[in-house]
Amino acid sequence: MKKVYQLDNFRTMSDGVGRFNVQGKKFLIPEMNKIGGHLLAGVFRGFGVNSEVMTTYEGLDLGKEFTSGKECFPCIVTLGDILLYLKKEKEKLGNAFNPENYIYFMPESNGPCRFGMYNKYHRIVLDTFPDFDKVKIASLSSEDSYSADGLIPKERIQDFRKASYLSVVAGDILDRLLWKIRPYERKAGMADKFIDEAMERMTESFSRHSSKKNFSDIFTDLIEIVAEGKEIINPDIPQKPLIGMVGEIYVRSHLKSNQDTIRIFEEYGAEVINASIAEWINYTTYDLARLAKTALRLNLKGFRLKEAKESLLRYLKYNLTLFHQYRQQEKVYRMVRNHIDIEKDHKIGHLEKVLKKDNTFSFEVGTEACLSISSVMEHARAGYNGIANIFPFTCMPSNITSAIAKPLITGMNIPYIDLPYDGSFQPGREAAIRTFMYQACQRFKTYGRP
Ligand code: SF4
Repeated sequence: MKKVYQLDNFRTMSDGVGRFNVQGKKFLIPEMNKIGGHLLAGVFRGFGVNSEVMTTYEGLDLGKEFTSGKECFPCIVTLGDILLYLKKEKEKLGNAFNPENYIYFMPESNGPCRFGMYNKYHRIVLDTFPDFDKVKIASLSSEDSYSADGLIPKERIQDFRKASYLSVVAGDILDRLLWKIRPYERKAGMADKFIDEAMERMTESFSRHSSKKNFSDIFTDLIEIVAEGKEIINPDIPQKPLIGMVGEIYVRSHLKSNQDTIRIFEEYGAEVINASIAEWINYTTYDLARLAKTALRLNLKGFRLKEAKESLLRYLKYNLTLFHQYRQQEKVYRMVRNHIDIEKDHKIGHLEKVLKKDNTFSFEVGTEACLSISSVMEHARAGYNGIANIFPFTCMPSNITSAIAKPLITGMNIPYIDLPYDGSFQPGREAAIRTFMYQACQRFKTYGRP
């Protein structure tokens, strides 16, 4: 039974969305990229939090029922996930169902696009259900580079941050391993089965070891998996055209939302590399340091010494955080690349230089367009055989990417395709991908690949 939403209930935006102690609660994580979500749940369990990745996409009809259709597609999908989960829990537990036992995780970014509004909108919808209005929404923000401050006891925050960042990097590695081995697998289905099992192994590894100071057990498990995964490659299968994928983080990572596009590309003869999740985390940290540096300069110029000191401290703090993130990421990639040649991420400072050099876009505008446009340019220079931009229909940063990158790339005669998704099936989509792949194969035959 739904209740009518009252304007004075907007108080729940502060009471029902924010940072809550998750100890003793069931912490519900929406699935974005499948592997990374499960590894993160493993980290939370390692720190004593009962966490679970919710089944995804099955509640899409519910998500559509409680949205107008104008919201970003990831907002609709994740709303459906939480509504269906709670509905099923209520049916299963009956009167024993207590909404205060659950905390739903929905992070945000501080604009300029709409990701900052998902959790507010989800709050409004949950509040219209008398059974669900006491389910709290835990939110972390790009404003402090997704610090878990307030969710995890203060004395454990640094350890948690290191472990959760490592889980993001390990998730990227397993994704990249899959995209590296599946196009060349000895027998159809081997790579998917192997990676599904690897995800379980690594989730268990993070549950058991992530709260320790030393991650050597996690590294050992990851390297074993990579070494085993490499054996799935059939060396007799010749190299294939390489496609670089950029776009909006949720839809390009969420298999159901993007209708498993990477697999379709592979069916038409491609090897694909998608942008990583760690890239976004590094970007938010980099951007905070960049903003602090600008504030420092302006405060010094205006002789506001107290504010200048605060800006300097923020600048040092975020640079130090970024330094640790890069160091951890490089360490893991170095170990993995001793076994298999998977692609590394670009440093964010390098991507900003790419934009500045070509004067194509600015980090002052913000959003994922900063990463997507610069990555497209880097892929083109590196000799990728084609580039795909995947995003929710109407996504603001991805449409900016398309408007800027597409003419530049087509001017370089590199195949490029925009793939917007909104849950519907476009009849011409596969033909468009097939045509794009024909062009990419032609380019591959003429120029080879990186
Ligand atoms: S990145 Fe795109 S899909 Fe995501 S919130 Fe912003 S506009 Fe919406």
